[in-house]
Amino acid sequence: MFELILKPGREKSVKRRHPWIFSGAVARVTGEPESGETVQVVSHDGQPLAVAAYSPKSQIVARAWDWRMREIGPEFFTERIGQALALRRDLLPGTGAMRLVHGESDGLPGVVIDRYGDVVVLQLSSAGAMRWREVIAGAVETHAQPRTIFERSDADVLALEGLAAQVAHLRGEPLPADVVVEEAGLKYRVDVAGGHKTGFYLDQRANRARVRALAARRDVLDCFCYTGGFALNAAAGGARSVTAVDSSGPALATLRANAALNELSVPDAMEGDVFALLRGFRDRGRRFGLIVLDPPKFAPTAAHAERAARAYKDINLLALKLLEPGGLLFTFSCSGGVDAALFQKIVAGAALDAGVDARIVERLGAGPDHPVALNFPEGDYLKGLVCRVG
Ligand code: SAH
Repeated sequence: MFELILKPGREKSVKRRHPWIFSGAVARVTGEPESGETVQVVSHDGQPLAVAAYSPKSQIVARAWDWRMREIGPEFFTERIGQALALRRDLLPGTGAMRLVHGESDGLPGVVIDRYGDVVVLQLSSAGAMRWREVIAGAVETHAQPRTIFERSDADVLALEGLAAQVAHLRGEPLPADVVVEEAGLKYRVDVAGGHKTGFYLDQRANRARVRALAARRDVLDCFCYTGGFALNAAAGGARSVTAVDSSGPALATLRANAALNELSVPDAMEGDVFALLRGFRDRGRRFGLIVLDPPKFAPTAAHAERAARAYKDINLLALKLLEPGGLLFTFSCSGGVDAALFQKIVAGAALDAGVDARIVERLGAGPDHPVALNFPEGDYLKGLVCRVG
Protein backbone atom coordinates (compact mmCIF):
# COMPACT_ATOMS: atom_id res chain seq x y z
CA MET A 1 0.00 0.00 0.00
CA PHE A 2 1.13 3.58 -0.61
CA GLU A 3 2.28 5.45 2.45
CA LEU A 4 1.60 8.99 3.48
CA ILE A 5 4.32 9.87 5.94
CA LEU A 6 3.68 12.69 8.41
CA LYS A 7 6.19 15.29 9.54
CA PRO A 8 7.64 14.84 13.03
CA GLY A 9 5.16 15.97 15.70
CA ARG A 10 2.21 16.09 13.30
CA GLU A 11 0.56 12.82 14.30
CA LYS A 12 -1.41 14.20 17.28
CA SER A 13 -4.60 14.98 15.39
CA VAL A 14 -4.69 11.57 13.65
CA LYS A 15 -4.07 9.87 16.98
CA ARG A 16 -7.08 11.70 18.40
CA ARG A 17 -8.97 10.20 15.48
CA HIS A 18 -9.71 13.40 13.67
CA PRO A 19 -10.36 12.16 10.12
CA TRP A 20 -8.72 15.04 8.18
CA ILE A 21 -5.05 15.08 7.30
CA PHE A 22 -3.92 18.48 6.04
CA SER A 23 -1.26 18.78 3.36
CA GLY A 24 0.94 20.85 5.70
CA ALA A 25 1.33 17.87 8.03
CA VAL A 26 2.68 15.56 5.33
CA ALA A 27 6.40 14.97 4.81
CA ARG A 28 6.06 12.78 1.73
CA VAL A 29 4.00 10.21 -0.09
CA THR A 30 5.52 7.00 -1.38
CA GLY A 31 4.69 6.08 -4.97
CA GLU A 32 1.91 7.76 -6.93
CA PRO A 33 -1.48 6.90 -5.49
CA GLU A 34 -4.41 7.92 -7.66
CA SER A 35 -7.15 10.28 -6.53
CA GLY A 36 -9.24 8.51 -3.90
CA GLU A 37 -6.95 5.54 -3.60
CA THR A 38 -6.36 4.08 -0.14
CA VAL A 39 -3.09 5.06 1.56
CA GLN A 40 -1.65 4.16 4.91
CA VAL A 41 -0.98 7.16 7.14
CA VAL A 42 2.29 6.67 8.98
CA SER A 43 4.08 8.76 11.61
CA HIS A 44 7.58 10.05 10.81
CA ASP A 45 9.06 7.10 12.73
CA GLY A 46 7.07 4.50 10.86
CA GLN A 47 4.10 3.92 13.19
CA PRO A 48 0.92 3.08 11.21
CA LEU A 49 -1.88 5.47 12.26
CA ALA A 50 -4.79 5.17 9.83
CA VAL A 51 -6.00 4.03 6.45
CA ALA A 52 -7.23 6.97 4.42
CA ALA A 53 -8.42 8.13 1.01
CA TYR A 54 -5.82 10.17 -0.86
CA SER A 55 -6.97 13.48 -2.28
CA PRO A 56 -4.01 15.00 -4.10
CA LYS A 57 -5.68 18.28 -5.14
CA SER A 58 -7.19 19.14 -1.78
CA GLN A 59 -5.74 20.93 1.24
CA ILE A 60 -7.24 18.02 3.13
CA VAL A 61 -4.89 15.65 1.41
CA ALA A 62 -6.30 12.51 3.03
CA ARG A 63 -9.44 11.53 4.92
CA ALA A 64 -9.25 8.60 7.31
CA TRP A 65 -11.58 5.68 6.72
CA ASP A 66 -10.37 3.87 9.81
CA TRP A 67 -7.68 3.87 12.47
CA ARG A 68 -7.28 0.11 12.38
CA MET A 69 -5.17 -1.23 9.57
CA ARG A 70 -7.85 -2.94 7.52
CA GLU A 71 -8.77 -3.40 3.94
CA ILE A 72 -11.05 -0.76 2.48
CA GLY A 73 -13.50 -2.43 0.12
CA PRO A 74 -17.08 -3.71 -0.19
CA GLU A 75 -17.07 -5.31 3.24
CA PHE A 76 -16.00 -2.05 4.91
CA PHE A 77 -18.71 0.01 3.20
CA THR A 78 -21.42 -2.58 3.84
CA GLU A 79 -20.49 -2.59 7.52
CA ARG A 80 -20.36 1.21 7.93
CA ILE A 81 -23.58 1.84 6.04
CA GLY A 82 -25.25 -0.93 8.02
CA GLN A 83 -24.19 0.75 11.27
CA ALA A 84 -25.49 4.12 10.10
CA LEU A 85 -28.86 2.65 9.19
CA ALA A 86 -29.10 0.82 12.51
CA LEU A 87 -28.71 4.16 14.34
CA ARG A 88 -31.62 5.63 12.36
CA ARG A 89 -33.83 2.55 12.84
CA ASP A 90 -33.18 2.85 16.54
CA LEU A 91 -33.71 6.60 16.96
CA LEU A 92 -36.06 7.62 14.13
CA PRO A 93 -38.28 4.61 13.50
CA GLY A 94 -40.99 5.05 10.89
CA THR A 95 -39.45 8.21 9.39
CA GLY A 96 -39.61 8.22 5.59
CA ALA A 97 -37.45 11.26 4.87
CA MET A 98 -34.12 11.32 6.63
CA ARG A 99 -30.37 11.40 6.28
CA LEU A 100 -29.05 7.84 6.23
CA VAL A 101 -25.36 8.67 6.24
CA HIS A 102 -23.88 11.93 7.49
CA GLY A 103 -20.32 11.86 6.20
CA GLU A 104 -17.48 11.95 8.72
CA SER A 105 -19.95 11.67 11.59
CA ASP A 106 -20.94 8.21 10.37
CA GLY A 107 -17.35 7.21 9.65
CA LEU A 108 -17.68 7.84 5.92
CA PRO A 109 -15.87 11.08 4.96
CA GLY A 110 -17.43 12.81 1.97
CA VAL A 111 -20.44 10.48 1.84
CA VAL A 112 -23.91 11.89 2.39
CA ILE A 113 -26.90 9.65 1.73
CA ASP A 114 -30.46 10.93 2.07
CA ARG A 115 -33.68 8.96 1.83
CA TYR A 116 -36.95 10.33 0.47
CA GLY A 117 -39.26 7.35 0.73
CA ASP A 118 -38.32 4.95 -2.08
CA VAL A 119 -35.74 7.34 -3.50
CA VAL A 120 -32.20 7.44 -2.13
CA VAL A 121 -29.86 10.29 -3.02
CA LEU A 122 -26.08 10.04 -2.85
CA GLN A 123 -24.07 13.22 -2.40
CA LEU A 124 -20.36 12.49 -2.67
CA SER A 125 -17.85 15.25 -2.01
CA SER A 126 -14.43 13.69 -1.58
CA ALA A 127 -12.05 11.82 -3.86
CA GLY A 128 -12.34 8.68 -1.74
CA ALA A 129 -16.12 8.73 -1.76
CA MET A 130 -16.17 9.14 -5.54
CA ARG A 131 -13.73 6.32 -6.11
CA TRP A 132 -16.02 3.94 -4.22
CA ARG A 133 -19.29 5.24 -5.75
CA GLU A 134 -20.47 1.90 -7.17
CA VAL A 135 -19.54 -0.04 -4.04
CA ILE A 136 -21.39 2.51 -1.89
CA ALA A 137 -24.45 2.31 -4.15
CA GLY A 138 -24.33 -1.48 -3.88
CA ALA A 139 -24.18 -1.36 -0.08
CA VAL A 140 -27.16 1.03 -0.02
CA GLU A 141 -29.11 -1.40 -2.22
CA THR A 142 -28.30 -4.27 0.11
CA HIS A 143 -29.34 -2.45 3.27
CA ALA A 144 -32.11 -0.09 2.20
CA GLN A 145 -33.63 -1.62 -0.98
CA PRO A 146 -34.63 1.70 -2.51
CA ARG A 147 -36.52 1.83 -5.78
CA THR A 148 -34.18 4.48 -7.20
CA ILE A 149 -30.66 5.66 -6.38
CA PHE A 150 -29.85 9.12 -7.73
CA GLU A 151 -26.54 10.94 -7.46
CA ARG A 152 -26.39 14.65 -6.57
CA SER A 153 -22.64 15.16 -6.29
CA ASP A 154 -22.60 18.89 -7.02
CA ALA A 155 -21.81 20.55 -3.68
CA ASP A 156 -19.67 23.71 -3.76
CA VAL A 157 -16.82 21.96 -1.95
CA LEU A 158 -16.11 19.77 -4.99
CA ALA A 159 -14.15 22.60 -6.56
CA LEU A 160 -11.82 22.71 -3.53
CA GLU A 161 -11.27 18.99 -3.96
CA GLY A 162 -10.51 19.35 -7.67
CA LEU A 163 -13.39 17.01 -8.47
CA ALA A 164 -15.98 17.22 -11.24
CA ALA A 165 -19.67 17.37 -10.38
CA GLN A 166 -21.88 14.42 -11.21
CA VAL A 167 -25.66 14.57 -11.23
CA ALA A 168 -27.14 11.41 -12.67
CA HIS A 169 -29.41 8.45 -12.19
CA LEU A 170 -27.33 5.67 -10.66
CA ARG A 171 -29.45 2.57 -10.09
CA GLY A 172 -32.97 1.18 -10.16
CA GLU A 173 -36.04 2.78 -11.68
CA PRO A 174 -35.86 6.25 -13.22
CA LEU A 175 -36.30 9.16 -10.81
CA PRO A 176 -40.06 9.81 -10.48
CA ALA A 177 -41.20 13.15 -11.90
CA ASP A 178 -42.68 14.01 -8.51
CA VAL A 179 -40.98 13.05 -5.28
CA VAL A 180 -43.31 13.82 -2.37
CA VAL A 181 -42.45 13.01 1.22
CA GLU A 182 -44.63 13.09 4.28
CA GLU A 183 -43.36 14.30 7.64
CA ALA A 184 -45.48 14.69 10.74
CA GLY A 185 -48.63 14.68 8.63
CA LEU A 186 -47.48 17.32 6.12
CA LYS A 187 -46.46 16.60 2.53
CA TYR A 188 -43.54 18.25 0.79
CA ARG A 189 -42.49 18.13 -2.83
CA VAL A 190 -38.73 17.46 -3.04
CA ASP A 191 -36.74 18.47 -6.11
CA VAL A 192 -34.09 15.76 -5.91
CA ALA A 193 -32.37 16.60 -9.20
CA GLY A 194 -32.24 20.39 -8.85
CA GLY A 195 -33.16 21.53 -5.33
CA HIS A 196 -30.80 22.71 -2.61
CA LYS A 197 -28.58 20.07 -0.98
CA THR A 198 -30.33 16.84 -2.05
CA GLY A 199 -33.67 18.65 -2.33
CA PHE A 200 -34.84 19.28 1.22
CA TYR A 201 -33.60 20.54 4.60
CA LEU A 202 -33.86 17.29 6.53
CA ASP A 203 -31.82 18.82 9.35
CA GLN A 204 -34.68 21.15 10.36
CA ARG A 205 -37.22 18.36 11.03
CA ALA A 206 -37.54 18.82 14.80
CA ASN A 207 -37.37 22.60 14.49
CA ARG A 208 -40.26 22.68 12.00
CA ALA A 209 -42.25 20.85 14.69
CA ARG A 210 -41.32 23.50 17.28
CA VAL A 211 -42.55 26.30 15.01
CA ARG A 212 -45.80 24.41 14.48
CA ALA A 213 -46.23 24.01 18.23
CA LEU A 214 -45.71 27.72 18.94
CA ALA A 215 -47.29 29.47 15.93
CA ALA A 216 -50.94 29.55 17.01
CA ARG A 217 -52.57 33.01 16.76
CA ARG A 218 -49.28 34.66 15.81
CA ASP A 219 -48.41 36.62 12.68
CA VAL A 220 -45.48 34.59 11.38
CA LEU A 221 -42.62 35.70 9.13
CA ASP A 222 -40.47 32.94 7.59
CA CYS A 223 -37.25 34.45 6.21
CA PHE A 224 -35.17 32.40 3.74
CA CYS A 225 -38.19 30.11 3.47
CA TYR A 226 -37.04 27.96 0.49
CA THR A 227 -39.94 25.54 -0.23
CA GLY A 228 -41.77 26.48 2.95
CA GLY A 229 -40.71 23.99 5.64
CA PHE A 230 -41.30 26.50 8.43
CA ALA A 231 -44.06 28.54 6.76
CA LEU A 232 -46.24 25.48 6.17
CA ASN A 233 -45.79 24.35 9.76
CA ALA A 234 -46.75 27.80 10.99
CA ALA A 235 -49.92 27.60 8.89
CA ALA A 236 -50.64 24.07 10.14
CA GLY A 237 -50.06 25.27 13.70
CA GLY A 238 -52.80 27.87 13.45
CA ALA A 239 -50.85 31.04 12.72
CA ARG A 240 -53.03 34.12 12.20
CA SER A 241 -51.04 35.02 9.08
CA VAL A 242 -47.93 33.64 7.38
CA THR A 243 -45.50 35.69 5.31
CA ALA A 244 -42.63 33.89 3.61
CA VAL A 245 -39.59 35.47 1.95
CA ASP A 246 -36.97 34.00 -0.38
CA SER A 247 -34.90 35.26 -3.30
CA SER A 248 -35.68 32.14 -5.34
CA GLY A 249 -38.79 32.22 -7.52
CA PRO A 250 -38.78 28.44 -8.14
CA ALA A 251 -38.53 27.77 -4.37
CA LEU A 252 -41.58 30.00 -3.78
CA ALA A 253 -43.48 28.21 -6.56
CA THR A 254 -42.85 24.91 -4.76
CA LEU A 255 -43.95 26.52 -1.48
CA ARG A 256 -47.28 27.46 -3.07
CA ALA A 257 -47.64 23.95 -4.52
CA ASN A 258 -46.86 22.48 -1.10
CA ALA A 259 -49.52 24.63 0.54
CA ALA A 260 -52.08 23.37 -1.99
CA LEU A 261 -50.90 19.76 -1.51
CA ASN A 262 -51.70 20.10 2.20
CA GLU A 263 -54.89 22.13 1.74
CA LEU A 264 -53.38 24.94 3.79
CA SER A 265 -54.01 28.60 3.07
CA VAL A 266 -51.18 29.83 0.86
CA PRO A 267 -48.67 32.01 2.71
CA ASP A 268 -47.99 35.52 1.43
CA ALA A 269 -44.89 34.52 -0.54
CA MET A 270 -42.56 37.45 -1.28
CA GLU A 271 -39.66 37.14 -3.72
CA GLY A 272 -36.74 39.33 -2.74
CA ASP A 273 -33.74 40.01 -0.57
CA VAL A 274 -34.43 39.39 3.12
CA PHE A 275 -32.14 42.23 4.23
CA ALA A 276 -34.07 44.75 2.12
CA LEU A 277 -37.51 43.33 2.94
CA LEU A 278 -36.83 43.42 6.70
CA ARG A 279 -35.88 47.11 6.39
CA GLY A 280 -39.08 47.68 4.43
CA PHE A 281 -41.17 46.07 7.19
CA ARG A 282 -39.36 48.22 9.75
CA ASP A 283 -40.01 51.42 7.80
CA ARG A 284 -43.70 50.55 7.42
CA GLY A 285 -44.06 49.65 11.12
CA ARG A 286 -45.05 46.01 10.43
CA ARG A 287 -44.98 43.73 13.50
CA PHE A 288 -44.84 39.93 13.84
CA GLY A 289 -45.38 37.44 16.66
CA LEU A 290 -42.91 34.83 15.40
CA ILE A 291 -40.00 35.24 13.00
CA VAL A 292 -37.81 32.49 11.54
CA LEU A 293 -34.34 33.37 10.25
CA ASP A 294 -32.76 30.42 8.45
CA PRO A 295 -30.19 31.98 6.12
CA PRO A 296 -27.74 30.14 3.87
CA LYS A 297 -24.24 29.42 5.12
CA PHE A 298 -22.75 32.92 5.46
CA ALA A 299 -19.43 31.46 6.71
CA PRO A 300 -18.49 28.11 5.17
CA THR A 301 -15.18 28.25 7.08
CA ALA A 302 -13.74 30.23 9.99
CA ALA A 303 -11.95 32.50 7.50
CA HIS A 304 -15.33 34.02 6.54
CA ALA A 305 -16.47 34.40 10.14
CA GLU A 306 -16.03 38.15 10.46
CA ARG A 307 -18.04 39.19 7.43
CA ALA A 308 -20.61 36.54 8.22
CA ALA A 309 -20.95 37.85 11.76
CA ARG A 310 -21.98 41.23 10.41
CA ALA A 311 -24.62 39.66 8.16
CA TYR A 312 -26.02 37.54 11.01
CA LYS A 313 -26.09 40.56 13.26
CA ASP A 314 -27.90 42.70 10.67
CA ILE A 315 -30.78 40.30 10.11
CA ASN A 316 -31.13 39.43 13.79
CA LEU A 317 -31.16 43.10 14.76
CA LEU A 318 -33.85 43.89 12.20
CA ALA A 319 -35.94 40.84 13.14
CA LEU A 320 -35.78 41.54 16.88
CA LYS A 321 -37.10 45.06 16.23
CA LEU A 322 -40.05 43.67 14.27
CA LEU A 323 -41.24 41.41 17.07
CA GLU A 324 -44.11 42.46 19.28
CA PRO A 325 -43.83 41.93 23.06
CA GLY A 326 -43.88 38.18 23.77
CA GLY A 327 -42.76 37.53 20.20
CA LEU A 328 -40.48 34.62 19.33
CA LEU A 329 -37.36 34.66 17.18
CA PHE A 330 -36.24 31.31 15.75
CA THR A 331 -32.73 32.14 14.56
CA PHE A 332 -30.34 29.68 12.90
CA SER A 333 -26.81 29.47 11.62
CA CYS A 334 -25.59 26.53 9.56
CA SER A 335 -22.12 28.02 9.13
CA GLY A 336 -19.29 25.70 10.05
CA GLY A 337 -17.16 28.81 10.64
CA VAL A 338 -19.46 30.19 13.37
CA ASP A 339 -19.72 28.04 16.48
CA ALA A 340 -22.54 28.04 19.02
CA ALA A 341 -20.78 30.41 21.41
CA LEU A 342 -20.01 32.96 18.69
CA PHE A 343 -23.53 32.72 17.30
CA GLN A 344 -25.03 33.45 20.71
CA LYS A 345 -22.71 36.42 21.09
CA ILE A 346 -23.79 37.79 17.70
CA VAL A 347 -27.48 37.49 18.61
CA ALA A 348 -26.80 39.10 21.99
CA GLY A 349 -25.06 42.00 20.24
CA ALA A 350 -28.02 42.35 17.89
CA ALA A 351 -30.47 42.53 20.82
CA LEU A 352 -28.32 45.11 22.55
CA ASP A 353 -28.12 47.32 19.48
CA ALA A 354 -31.83 46.85 18.79
CA GLY A 355 -32.56 48.01 22.34
CA VAL A 356 -34.63 44.87 22.88
CA ASP A 357 -34.85 42.79 26.05
CA ALA A 358 -34.77 39.13 24.99
CA ARG A 359 -33.92 35.75 26.49
CA ILE A 360 -33.05 32.36 25.06
CA VAL A 361 -35.89 29.96 25.77
CA GLU A 362 -34.74 26.98 23.68
CA ARG A 363 -31.63 25.77 21.89
CA LEU A 364 -32.12 23.87 18.65
CA GLY A 365 -29.98 21.74 16.39
CA ALA A 366 -30.18 18.99 13.83
CA GLY A 367 -31.81 15.65 14.63
CA PRO A 368 -30.33 12.22 15.33
CA ASP A 369 -29.96 11.53 11.60
CA HIS A 370 -27.28 14.26 11.65
CA PRO A 371 -25.15 12.90 14.50
CA VAL A 372 -21.92 14.57 15.60
CA ALA A 373 -19.06 12.13 16.02
CA LEU A 374 -17.13 13.18 19.12
CA ASN A 375 -13.88 12.98 17.16
CA PHE A 376 -15.33 15.36 14.54
CA PRO A 377 -16.71 18.52 16.17
CA GLU A 378 -17.05 20.10 12.70
CA GLY A 379 -20.15 17.92 12.33
CA ASP A 380 -21.99 20.21 14.75
CA TYR A 381 -22.89 22.82 12.13
CA LEU A 382 -26.55 23.69 12.74
CA LYS A 383 -27.21 25.97 15.68
CA GLY A 384 -30.56 27.46 16.54
CA LEU A 385 -31.84 29.73 19.29
CA VAL A 386 -35.41 30.51 20.20
CA CYS A 387 -35.48 33.94 21.83
CA ARG A 388 -38.50 35.54 23.45
CA VAL A 389 -38.76 39.27 23.40
CA GLY A 390 -39.86 40.84 26.70
N1 SAH B 1 -35.68 27.54 5.76
C1 SAH B 1 -35.54 26.66 4.62
C2 SAH B 1 -34.10 26.52 4.16
C3 SAH B 1 -33.39 27.81 3.88
S1 SAH B 1 -32.03 27.66 2.82
C4 SAH B 1 -36.13 25.29 4.94
O1 SAH B 1 -36.33 25.00 6.12
O2 SAH B 1 -36.40 24.54 4.02
C5 SAH B 1 -31.64 29.30 2.47
C6 SAH B 1 -32.59 29.98 1.49
O3 SAH B 1 -32.22 31.34 1.45
C7 SAH B 1 -32.55 29.51 0.06
O4 SAH B 1 -33.84 29.12 -0.33
C8 SAH B 1 -32.09 30.73 -0.76
O5 SAH B 1 -32.78 30.85 -2.00
C9 SAH B 1 -32.45 31.86 0.14
N2 SAH B 1 -31.62 33.10 0.08
C10 SAH B 1 -30.28 33.22 0.05
N3 SAH B 1 -29.92 34.52 0.15
C11 SAH B 1 -31.08 35.23 0.28
C12 SAH B 1 -31.38 36.61 0.45
N4 SAH B 1 -30.40 37.53 0.55
N5 SAH B 1 -32.66 36.97 0.54
C13 SAH B 1 -33.66 36.06 0.45
N6 SAH B 1 -33.43 34.74 0.31
C14 SAH B 1 -32.16 34.33 0.22
